[in-house]
Amino acid sequence: MSRRRCRHLFSGGRVGPGPLHWGHERGWRANLAKPAPQWHKPPLDHDPDAPMNPFWSQLARELSPYVPGEQPRIANLVKLNTNESPFGPSPLALQAMQGAAGDSQRLYPDPEASELREALAAHHGVKPEQVFVGNGSDEVLAHAFAALLKQPKPLLFPDVTYSFYPVWAQLFGLACEIVPLDDGMRVRVEDYRGEAGSIVIANPNAPTGIALPRAEIARLLEDHRGIPVLIDEAYVDFGGESAVPLIADHPNLLVVQTMSKSRALAGLRVGYALGDAGLIEALRRVKDSFNSYPLGRVAQAGATASVRDEAYFRESCARVVAAREAMTRDLVRLDFVVLPSSANFVFARHPARGGAELAAALRERAVLVRHFNKPRTAPWLRITVGTEDDTRRLIAAAADILR
Ligand code: PMP
Repeated sequence: MSRRRCRHLFSGGRVGPGPLHWGHERGWRANLAKPAPQWHKPPLDHDPDAPMNPFWSQLARELSPYVPGEQPRIANLVKLNTNESPFGPSPLALQAMQGAAGDSQRLYPDPEASELREALAAHHGVKPEQVFVGNGSDEVLAHAFAALLKQPKPLLFPDVTYSFYPVWAQLFGLACEIVPLDDGMRVRVEDYRGEAGSIVIANPNAPTGIALPRAEIARLLEDHRGIPVLIDEAYVDFGGESAVPLIADHPNLLVVQTMSKSRALAGLRVGYALGDAGLIEALRRVKDSFNSYPLGRVAQAGATASVRDEAYFRESCARVVAAREAMTRDLVRLDFVVLPSSANFVFARHPARGGAELAAALRERAVLVRHFNKPRTAPWLRITVGTEDDTRRLIAAAADILR
């Protein structure tokens, strides 16, 4: 399989005849002069046949937004669809959040989140000016797309990866090229050689869970000293090798991490980037052109306390890893094929049943997993690692379906 222009990613039944004209060279400015594009479909929760709202900007009309995993309010549901932690946040973080929820809420928070950045800098062995924080790593990544990854040449990323990347590419008007994973669903860094303006790779990748060793990221960086390279390490704490030690020798490397997974703070919305101070300055420029106070006082207090509670962090990561290995063994016993995961989820398929069918049947049994209905991912399910009880119920439901 060879590289292809990223417009194909959007072509899952959505794109009408002719190419999308949002590549960098032509820019979406070109679109502004044209009539409303044929290919636009409103988000799924809207009536597809409803007329376009006349007050929408051209940009709003053209977007193909990211579709987050469901957050249903159903009691007794086994919720294994959005990679949240099954174990709670650090008790010290909860205490700090309660402490912050007082009269001081009338004041704006520290726009620099200095205490949190200092704690993160100490945790990762970098300087505070090498740390940027934002409202979830989604926001940090979005800023990085605008501040760093938008270059005259295309952005490269894998065909099977975090599905927000093409959305930001479209939002910010980046040209991009899709690099297929190999037949084992692995990123091969040599496939990224050649012309590129920037690169983003999730490591471990999502939704496959497969991690590249640090030496491979180092090889990628050797090949691309002259362009920004972003490594999205949302899941690195569950067995991956972080690229953070490579920052010292690579002023073009930005590493993005989140508190949503390994620190069980998805509800708080805190993510961060680590890199050369020059890269961080670009992110700050975008942030201060968008929202100067992305993290509230409660978030800053909770996140800082979480970073300082190293013992709890290590212990809960180890518990997730042990639960992942147990869940993998149980799935394999039911003849599932499970990719080797270094994340808090597994990517699994069953030779006898399709992914969509399995996801629907699990849902009927109150077990929610994630299915991505794209050609290469259609047979697969992404299943978040849960508690022992979650796994027991998942396996019982799967066994019942496969009987
Ligand atoms: N990167 C990857 C690869 C992810 O799967 C996610 C979670 N959806 C994120 C980033 C964003 O996480 P958050 O915004 O909660 O930090």
